[in-house]
Amino acid sequence: MLEIQDLVIRYGDVEAVSGLSLRVAADETVALLGPSGCGKSTLLRAIAGLEPVAAGAVLLDGVNLVDRAPHERGVGMMFQHHALFPHRDVAANIEFGLRMAGIDEVNRRRRTSELLELVDLAGYERRDIATLSGGEAQRVALARSLAPNPRVLLLDEPFGSLDRSLRDRLVEELPPLLRIAGVAAIHVTHDHAEAFGVGDRIAVMTDGELAQAGTPEDVWSQPASAAVARFFGHRNIIDDGENTRLIRSDAASIDPSGELEAVVVRVRFCDGAFVVRFRTGSGTELEFILGERVDVGAAVRLRLDPDRQIPLT
Ligand code: ADP
Repeated sequence: MLEIQDLVIRYGDVEAVSGLSLRVAADETVALLGPSGCGKSTLLRAIAGLEPVAAGAVLLDGVNLVDRAPHERGVGMMFQHHALFPHRDVAANIEFGLRMAGIDEVNRRRRTSELLELVDLAGYERRDIATLSGGEAQRVALARSLAPNPRVLLLDEPFGSLDRSLRDRLVEELPPLLRIAGVAAIHVTHDHAEAFGVGDRIAVMTDGELAQAGTPEDVWSQPASAAVARFFGHRNIIDDGENTRLIRSDAASIDPSGELEAVVVRVRFCDGAFVVRFRTGSGTELEFILGERVDVGAAVRLRLDPDRQIPLT
C-alpha cells in the first residue's frame, strides 16, 4: 500500500537517492539496511515530506503524496534522538500531535492512555520526561509518533543511542507493537542483527539505490553481491581473482572424508552452537557454525555443502 516509485532526490549536484522503488504492505515492517551516507535518512525524509523530490512518486493506497504537506500525509516519524519536550510530562508529549490536529481534550486523554498501555507504560501520564530511563523515553517517543494514527511509520535508527541489552529488548518488543497498531513501517538501521530482528522483509541500500530486498531468510541465504553479503555479517567471502563466492556459515560439517583440510584456530560458544574459525592449507580463514565442540589446534576435514556456496558479483 506504500509504494515508492523511481524516486530521485538531489542535494545540488549530489544524487542522494537514484531511482529507488520499494513497496511496503499495510501491516509490514521493512528493515532498511545500508552503509552510512547511502541515502537512508534522505529517503525517509522525502517520504515524510521533509525533502523535495526531483522525480518519481510516493503512493499511499494509490494516491501520490509528493505534493502534500508533511502533516497531511498520514506518515509518522521517529528518530534516534527522540527529541521529547523535556519540560513537559509524558502525556503532554504524546498529545502534542493530537493537539496540533485539533482533537478535543477528552479524546486526547483517551488516546494517550491507550498508547501508554500499548507501549507498556500505563499510568505514566504525569511522569517527568527527565525521570525516564532511556528505554522508557524511547517507548514514549514511539507512543507519540503513533498517537495521530499514522498509516506509515518511519523509524530512523530508533535504538541507535541505546545500549545493547536495551536494544535487544526493544527489538523484541517493537514488531508485535507495530502489528497491533496496524501500521506499515520502514525501520532504518545499520545493524544487521536489528534488521533481522524487526523486519518482515529486509531491504538493502547502497549508493542511493536498492541493492536487494526480500525475506530475512532469502536475503541471508542468497546475497546479491559481496558488498551486501558483508553487510549481512557473512565472513567467508572468497575472492580468487576470477570469481567471488560466499561460503555460508552453515555450509560446513566435520567429516573424515571431507574435501577440505583445516585447523581450528578459535572457538566461541554462542546461543547453543559453536562459532568455529578454521585456517585451511592455503592460509584462508573461514568461520562456521557447528553443533559440536572442537578444540583449538585440532586438525580436521570439512565437508562443504555445494548448495550453501553462493557465487557473488
Ligand atoms: P544515510 O542516512 O544512509 O547515512 P543520508 O541520507 O544522510 O545517508 O545522506 C545521503 C547523501 O546525501 C550523503 O552523501 C550525504 O552527504 C548527502 N546529504 C544528506 N543531507 C544533505 C544535505 N542537507 N545537503 C547536502 N547533502 C546532503
